[in-house]
Amino acid sequence: MRKRTMLSLAAVCTICAGSIFAPHLSAFAASLSELQQKKQDVENKSSDVQDKINDKDSKISDINDKQSSLKDQLDALNGKIDDANQKISSKQNEIDDTNQQIDQLKKDISELKNRIEERNKVLKERARAIQENGGGSVDYVGVVLDSKSLSDFFDRLSAVRTIVNADQKIIDQQKQDEANLQDKQSVFEKKLADLQTMLADLKDMKAKLKDDQAAKNALVAKLSKQKDDLEEEKMSLKEQQEILADQKASIEKAMELAKKELAEQKVAKAAEAKASSSSSSSDNSSNTSTNSSSGSLPKVSSGAFTRPAAGYISSEFGKRSGEFSGFHPGIDIANSAGTPVVAAADGVVFRAYHSSSYGNCVMISHYISGKLYTTVYAHLSSYSVSAGQHVSKGQQIGSMGSTGESSGPHLHFEIYNGQWTPPPHNGAQNPRNYINF
Ligand SMILES: [Zn+2]
Repeated sequence: MRKRTMLSLAAVCTICAGSIFAPHLSAFAASLSELQQKKQDVENKSSDVQDKINDKDSKISDINDKQSSLKDQLDALNGKIDDANQKISSKQNEIDDTNQQIDQLKKDISELKNRIEERNKVLKERARAIQENGGGSVDYVGVVLDSKSLSDFFDRLSAVRTIVNADQKIIDQQKQDEANLQDKQSVFEKKLADLQTMLADLKDMKAKLKDDQAAKNALVAKLSKQKDDLEEEKMSLKEQQEILADQKASIEKAMELAKKELAEQKVAKAAEAKASSSSSSSDNSSNTSTNSSSGSLPKVSSGAFTRPAAGYISSEFGKRSGEFSGFHPGIDIANSAGTPVVAAADGVVFRAYHSSSYGNCVMISHYISGKLYTTVYAHLSSYSVSAGQHVSKGQQIGSMGSTGESSGPHLHFEIYNGQWTPPPHNGAQNPRNYINF
């Protein structure tokens, strides 16, 4: 339900007529058979409302299905996201390991390079030393020729060759090692690049899963809002149905009263025919207006209906413009909170309850000169009657308040030529047609 702020000083009701029901207002009749028809109308309307309630129920159950399927999907998505997170962290670990290995390889390579460099230096120095001993390419020859004997010659020759060969072998080995390390480094670098591509893919996948999750969560929120709205509409339909059912019961009561009245009239006529001058007054119980309230009761006017409360008219019946636009199905009488509210005519209370829109509310069925009327008294601070109670014109039924969709203390008063009709209350009549305000 829409809640209005209390900013407006005008004490009017903010009930807005949602178009739930098609216009319905039948003409009405003095006869019992037409009253029977009226009852049938109420039954039809009630079954319409039940259809609408069933419709809401099936929509709610659809939403429940959708929600549970979405919940499954979200669970699956959460599983996938967890999986992706695990994969991402394991890839990240692999990348860290690979980076460490690459760092270590780079270190090893640079150490090897240093060693090769050192060895090269040693070799060059040795070569220079040999050169300085004899000079030029004849050095080795010199070393060899310096030999004192043939065996010494061979020894010297072999020693020179061994030294040169050994150094060369070490250098070759180290160069091979360096090449191997570089191969290894390039393998690891390739692995690193692959890992980084995989990580990027995983992160992409996770982002998509997260998007999907966000979209599904938004859908869940939307569905739950729709469900709330449906529940609320269903609740107001339930309220309408209860009102219709209660009024149906009160119409039956009115019918019984009508039959009784008819029977009494026949008896009276028979008595009159006998020329007996005794008058029949059947005013027995209900005319005791027990008005123990402190506020001022409205003057009871002549005619079928009297004004239900003292005060000024803060909003007329009919189309309204401005802040509270829409069709206003009643008239608003503003006064201080607690001002007595009285029954506009004799009748049977068929509903005294709290409604989210009407607030504390009393509804009365009237059977006047063979015709059914309904009056509604809304936004009461409290009510002092209950369903089934017979009330008389001018009898206090409650006090003025600002409960329900109301912006300040006032009485919202509706009158129907026939039974109460659900929003947009097309059956409502201008109370000015019945009461001189
Ligand atoms: Zn009103």
